[in-house]
Amino acid sequence: MTDNEEVKSESTMSQDEVLQLVLKSDSLPSLPTVASKLVSLTAKEDTTLSDVASLISQDIAMSSKILKVANSAFYSFPQQISSIQQAVSMLGTNAVQSLVLSFSFLSINKVSAESNFNFDEFLKRAVTAASVSKLIMGKLSDTDTEEIFVAGLLHKLGELILACTLPEDYNRVLEFMDSEGLERRAAEKRVFGTDHGYVGYEVAKQWNFPAAIVLPIFHHHDPKSYSNNDEKIQKYIEVIYLSNVFMKILESENPAQFHGQFMKEARELLSLSADEVEEILAEAHTKVDEAAANFGLEMEEARPVQEVLQEANIRLSLINLDYEQINKELIKAKMDLEAAAKELQEKNELLKQLADLDGLTGVYNNRYFQGALDNEMSRTLRQGHNLSLILMDIDHFKRFNDDYGHLAGDFVLAEFSKVLTENLRQYDTLARYGGEEFVVILPETDADAARAVAEKLRSAVEKTPFRDGKETYNVTASFGISLLTPEEEPAPEKKELIQRADEALYDAKKAGRNQVMMYAARNRTKKWFKRA
Ligand code: GH3
Ligand code: MG
Ligand code: MG
Repeated sequence: MTDNEEVKSESTMSQDEVLQLVLKSDSLPSLPTVASKLVSLTAKEDTTLSDVASLISQDIAMSSKILKVANSAFYSFPQQISSIQQAVSMLGTNAVQSLVLSFSFLSINKVSAESNFNFDEFLKRAVTAASVSKLIMGKLSDTDTEEIFVAGLLHKLGELILACTLPEDYNRVLEFMDSEGLERRAAEKRVFGTDHGYVGYEVAKQWNFPAAIVLPIFHHHDPKSYSNNDEKIQKYIEVIYLSNVFMKILESENPAQFHGQFMKEARELLSLSADEVEEILAEAHTKVDEAAANFGLEMEEARPVQEVLQEANIRLSLINLDYEQINKELIKAKMDLEAAAKELQEKNELLKQLADLDGLTGVYNNRYFQGALDNEMSRTLRQGHNLSLILMDIDHFKRFNDDYGHLAGDFVLAEFSKVLTENLRQYDTLARYGGEEFVVILPETDADAARAVAEKLRSAVEKTPFRDGKETYNVTASFGISLLTPEEEPAPEKKELIQRADEALYDAKKAGRNQVMMYAARNRTKKWFKRA
């Protein structure tokens, strides 16, 4: 919501009725007598410097305040100013009047206890606007700087007046600003149907303040709303308007935006050069501090614009950096996690494989063989196929070890496995049964095929020279075959099937080694024999 948007008022009173309420309020702040008298005095054409001086001298407290300022760095006169008379003649009527009005305004504090209006904050903004207005005006003219200071100081008078005279309603204004993020004027319009510009303007008029102070109060939100052709007043309005843009640099979440606006409008409205604008921005905080000190206000030190902008920049880049950093971290974490999961999966698979494989030969181990044979046997029985099991054992391997050593024996075991693997089908399962004994599961393989496979293996082993460096070894192996066929009822159990292969193997050994023996026929005879 911007200042200019129309706001529906919840007030049942007209703008005028609100104003009458304000003006008749016992709580309406009044100017010190000296200030109101001075305002009417200086409005007259024939007023002399000594008229002004003697009026001010009647107010001892006011006089001492003015002398203090006149002797401060604010004016930096080379000599001591010891009387109001001297001050008036050296500073000029305008400047002294401005000082009186400023002190008068700054002494107003009739905000009641139930009000949430922050008077200190209000003063700080008033002094900031006044100092910046004076600084800007200093670039445009040498003469009007005192008066614009007062105009800047008073331009938000209406806020104070409303908060003093209608404190509970003004609390609602503050609530709307807080809870709904409304601009002050929008919130005021909602509650009162009017805003501090109008109220301040009317009150300042009642106080007989000069047009140069009164009109900026009304028009400072929108310089274009002033259409009379008084150049001085037009300038005052524009300067005070700009001082408000300046304050937004200090107060906004996005100071860079108002910094840009300030530079642009300072050029466009007041034809200030880029250097002049830079000077204003660079000097403002010092001027604000000086003014606060002169008027005896205890205020926090004003912040340099550059610092405010830098801080906002850092904040912004920190947010971006943080966001980027967070994003990076998240992506990295996700990638790490994925990599870890993949690694874990790979490791698990490897582990599983390792658990299934024989360390020396790389073929399946007995544990795996047992499970595989269970599965293959039940599948064979389900499908009504044949399954053959070949158990083999290297011949005279004890002697081999004795002759060539255990390492040579290990080498041969590994090479022997390779020869077997090379001579088997992909879906045959070769496993190291234990020691120098190996076993092959041949699914869907009948007796003849199994005998052929075993013979092929036997022959391959016999013919293969196992070369280890300079040494070459030859070994043979004996083979025993057992069969699982759909004809046999009941089907032999796994243990039985292995036992039969072992018996056939024993027969092969007995028959002279390096040969293949089939168990099936004899076993069946045996069983039939047993059953009979
Ligand atoms: P047969 O022809 O009757 O099978 O005689 P053999 O000597 O092969 O049989 P035996 O059961 O008497 O001996 C088996 C040998 O196999 C004994 C053992 O040292 C050897 N052996 C078993 N496992 C390994 C092994 O992992 N590495 C080595 N180098 N030798 C092994
Ligand atoms: Mg053996
Ligand atoms: Mg052996």
